[in-house]
Amino acid sequence: MPLSKPLNLKTSLASAKQENSRQLAPWRVLIVDDDIEVHTVTRLILAKTVFKQRKVELLSAFSAAEAKKMLQTESNIAVILLDVVMETEDAGLLLVHFIRHDLDNKAVRIILRTGQPGQAPEEQVIIDYDINDYKAKSELTSQKLFTTVIASLRAYETIISLEKTRLGLEKIIDCSDSLFKVNSIRDFASGMLTCVSSFLDCKPEGILCIEGYLDTEASYDADHLCNGLEVVAAAGRYDDCLTCLHPLDESSCHHKDMVAHVRKALREHKNQFDDNYTVLYLETGEHKATIALVHSNQVVDEHDQRLLTLFASKIAIALANVIYYQKMISLEEAATTDFLTGLNNRRQLLRLGIPLLAGAQRSATPMAVAMLDIDHFKQVNDAYGHDAGDVVLKHIGALLKERFRLSDIVARYGGEEFCILAPQLDPEQAFELFDEFRYTLAMQKIEVEGHTLAVTVSIGVTTVLCDSLDEMISKADESLYNAKQSGRNCVVISS
Ligand code: GH3
Ligand code: MG
Ligand code: MG
Repeated sequence: MPLSKPLNLKTSLASAKQENSRQLAPWRVLIVDDDIEVHTVTRLILAKTVFKQRKVELLSAFSAAEAKKMLQTESNIAVILLDVVMETEDAGLLLVHFIRHDLDNKAVRIILRTGQPGQAPEEQVIIDYDINDYKAKSELTSQKLFTTVIASLRAYETIISLEKTRLGLEKIIDCSDSLFKVNSIRDFASGMLTCVSSFLDCKPEGILCIEGYLDTEASYDADHLCNGLEVVAAAGRYDDCLTCLHPLDESSCHHKDMVAHVRKALREHKNQFDDNYTVLYLETGEHKATIALVHSNQVVDEHDQRLLTLFASKIAIALANVIYYQKMISLEEAATTDFLTGLNNRRQLLRLGIPLLAGAQRSATPMAVAMLDIDHFKQVNDAYGHDAGDVVLKHIGALLKERFRLSDIVARYGGEEFCILAPQLDPEQAFELFDEFRYTLAMQKIEVEGHTLAVTVSIGVTTVLCDSLDEMISKADESLYNAKQSGRNCVVISS
């Protein structure tokens, strides 16, 4: 939400920024007068003026109507030297009203220059109209004109600078608000890229990496340029970094320059700004994060650097929170989930199953417990390798997830054994359900490393409510043993 109504300066800020990298944009001064002589003299006096290393560019309008048109199309006009009497006696004054109210331009400095001070008395005009200076042409010597124009340029610069700060802070506050609300590291990272690009008025073209976020050995590739950096968001030319497999040969990385900048920020613990890169360094406790953002042909001025530095220091807290939250989630996941299949692990099955059984006992409703074991699984490993065996395990895990209800509890019990707790099933329904599963799996072809495999399972089921879950699992196990004895690829139910 805007802090207050913004000045109408967006276009002027953007174009001033673009010109920044080449040479400083000139101050634009508009002369509005119906007397051609006034234009000539003013140009003579001001043409060579340089203020703060910026030249003065003079624009001319010979009537209020012409000035109106110019003001609607030209941006960045800093000062208007304005005659009062032109096509009408108050044409200049009406133009002031148009600029301040219709164009909503509060920044441009307006110096009224009148040849007939009696026509527009100074006291009245300065009270009624939002002008910044009032001069009778007769008193305006070249020295005085120069002085008043420079003073006005200085005031204009301050107004623009304050407005820029205000817009910048507004963007930062809006962004920070949204970034403090996200829980996932990826949402944070892409939000951060959007924020910084929007602040810099450039398209999102950047990357966010975190050093030391992944602890797994697998992500560590000592020979690679990006070693130890995890890319959590990337946009534009860095898209490929998201899927980069960290090739051994660092010459295959197209982004050496970017990585060098990121590394420098990490090494020096500070933001980096140069002609092509804005690199923000976020200190988040044990992890270090940087965002590198490319925006070609644009220099980030000192003012924006200060705002971005403020932003980086504040937002680092949000990032630290997100990382902490994610760690808690992954610890919780690791404790309850089987890493290979993503199913519940045995511990989680028992944790969730005990209250489920208690509920079934209280309401005296049936509940099925099934143990499922892959037939001759050792042969799969022996013939095709352990990795192929893993693919089969994952395949069965995925099929179990797909086939059973959300209210059922499906777990990898251990090795090549799965356990399913399915409430509200009587023996007939249970048999039908598990036999259908068995049949579906047996009919499937599993593609593994160029081979097509078919596997079957044996399933033992019980629907007899016992005192404990362990007892029910033992009963299901007995049925499973019987299923194996009966030739495998079948369901045996004890009721
Ligand atoms: P049966 O029909 O009697 O169950 O025969 P089986 O070969 O399936 O039974 P056995 O108990 O002899 O062998 C089980 C195999 O399961 C041996 C073991 O290596 C394999 N296994 C257990 N856990 C995993 C795993 O995580 N991945 C892979 N690939 N294999 C596993
Ligand atoms: Mg087996
Ligand atoms: Mg087994």
